[in-house]
Amino acid sequence: MKNRQGILIVVSGFSGAGKGTLMKRLVEEYDGYALSISATTRTPRAGETDGREYFFMSREQFEKRIAEHALIEHAEYCGNYYGTPRDYVEQKLAEGRDVILEIEIQGALKIKAQYPDALLVFVSTPDAAELRRRLSGRGTETEDVIQKRLCRAAKEAEGIEKYDYIVINDDLETCVKELHGIIAAAHHAPARNEEFIEKMRGELEGKQIEN
Ligand code: ADP
Ligand code: 5GP
Repeated sequence: MKNRQGILIVVSGFSGAGKGTLMKRLVEEYDGYALSISATTRTPRAGETDGREYFFMSREQFEKRIAEHALIEHAEYCGNYYGTPRDYVEQKLAEGRDVILEIEIQGALKIKAQYPDALLVFVSTPDAAELRRRLSGRGTETEDVIQKRLCRAAKEAEGIEKYDYIVINDDLETCVKELHGIIAAAHHAPARNEEFIEKMRGELEGKQIEN
C-alpha cells in the first residue's frame, strides 16, 4: 500500500531457539524487510562474516560507539556487548520499511521505551530439552558457554509477558509464516492507519457523496 508506515519489529528469544535461522528464511521468503546488523564484542563463529551477521569489534571500539550515541540501545549478554546501530534503523524506518532487530530482552525493553509503537515478538522452542539439543547441535559454543546461555534463558523466560506475541519455532516454515502473518496483521491496526482514517472521515463528513 502507498504511504505505508514501516514497523519496528523486535525479535527476541532463548539462545538456540532459532532466531537467526528464522530471520534468514523470513527475508528470503518475503520482500521488503530490512534486517538490522548489530555490533558485538563477541568473537565470530565459524562461517560468520564481519558486516553480514554482525559488525565485530573490540570493547574499546564498542565503547566509542556508545559515547558517540551511535547505538540506539546496547546490552551485555553472557560477558559481551551487543548493540543496534542507529543510522540504519532510522534511515529504513524513514523509507517506510519494516525493520527487524534480533536482540535480547534488555535491549527489547529499551527499544519499546524509545519507540512505543514497536512490535515485540518472542521466539521459543516447543520445550527446554529441544532448546538444549539445538544449542549443543549448533556446535558453536563450549559446554561452559551453553550453560551460561541456558541460565540466561531461565531469566529471560520471566519477561515473556512484556512481549506482544510469542511464536513457537517447531516447524521452521510454519513459524516463518506465523511471524510474517503477525507483522502483516500489525499493519492493519487503526493506530498505523491514521492517515487513511482521517481521509475517510473527511470524505464522509457532512458531504453529498456523488454516485
Ligand atoms: P538463535 O539465533 O536463536 O541462537 P539459531 O538460528 O542459531 O538460533 O539456531 C540454533 C540451532 O537450531 C541451529 O543449529 C539451527 O540450524 C537449528 N534450528 C533452527 N530452527 C530449527 C527448527 N525449526 N527445527 C530444528 N532445528 C532448528
Ligand atoms: P549470539 O551471540 O547468539 O549471536 O547473540 C546473543 C544474544 O544477543 C541473542 O539473544 C541476540 O538476540 C542478542 N543480540 C544480538 N544483537 C543484539 C543487539 O544489538 N542488542 C541487544 N540488546 N542484543 C542483541
